[in-house]
Amino acid sequence: MTEEIKLSARLDALVRELGAGNVAALSRCITLVEDGEVGSALRRAILPLTGGAGIVGFTGAPGVGKSTLVDAYIAELRRAGLSVAVAAVDPSSPISGGAVLGDRIRMHRHTGDAGVFIRSIASRGHLGGVSESIHWTIDVMDAAGRDVIIVETVGTGQSEVEIAEIADVCVVVNAPGLGDDVQAIKAGLLEIADVLVVNKADMPLANLAAKQLKGMLKLREKPRQDVPLVTTSATRGEGVAEMHSVIMARMAVVRGNRAEMRERRMRRLIAQAVGSLSRRLVLDNSNDETEALMKTASSGEITIDEAARKILNRIASDY
Ligand code: GDP
Repeated sequence: MTEEIKLSARLDALVRELGAGNVAALSRCITLVEDGEVGSALRRAILPLTGGAGIVGFTGAPGVGKSTLVDAYIAELRRAGLSVAVAAVDPSSPISGGAVLGDRIRMHRHTGDAGVFIRSIASRGHLGGVSESIHWTIDVMDAAGRDVIIVETVGTGQSEVEIAEIADVCVVVNAPGLGDDVQAIKAGLLEIADVLVVNKADMPLANLAAKQLKGMLKLREKPRQDVPLVTTSATRGEGVAEMHSVIMARMAVVRGNRAEMRERRMRRLIAQAVGSLSRRLVLDNSNDETEALMKTASSGEITIDEAARKILNRIASDY
């Protein structure tokens, strides 16, 4: 047997195991899915197995109780007999290292349950960017037959908007008493929410936070006014069953468009890659022509938009 045939036979066996729900194969495939030629063969091989999972994103400011809520949600899903995979976006930063360690400890109560699979995705050091990693990791988890895939982000920076592009249902978590009125409004997270949660309902001011959010929703145009709002107490497990049914109801609406959504997600990922590639090219590949364009733009002779178009044309002709 040539090396190539041997590799393809091994890959076939691995994908069979993955499809059968083998946890070791799931772990192995997540590691391999971005790995050069093997990754590319794997991505193609698992595609027919995908499309069955519902993808739920959880985001919100740090400290609102996302990890605690995800943990309670996992328990709710398990009670409903659904299998779960979690992709937790790990900031890989020494500053937030403590919080991430905390998250892992909180999710520990599910270790030993084969129906719960948890994988951290480092948001740094990824060649294709974190969205791409999440995208392929989700495909693998989906191919493994997981009913629900939860994507949790730490709630800082760009990852929130990325999650909205990736998840079928995006849950934005808020909490009272974190200094600002309602963090989600400030961070622009309201725009991406399919479901709004006010967590820590056991705390004073939770009602006020819910009221403020409802007020904000009313100001928006239909149908974005109709985003459901649920109050929960993750630590007491209250409101979690209601959150689950609200998420499932929303999932049922988007489910019909799964193929379309995947395509849209792909399109956005590619647009994002084009953006970062051209950014790199503009910043790193300076030549006389681009330098001249920069100068004319900086003197106000042409607009930034015109300069960008010209540079883009130039890049395209170089390729
Ligand atoms: P994250 O940073 O959004 O993931 O938040 P965590 O899940 O780490 O929670 C931050 C803190 O809020 C922890 O001390 C939790 O115990 C606490 N917490 C989470 N949910 C609730 C809740 O429903 N009620 C109360 N009182 N505290 C909560």
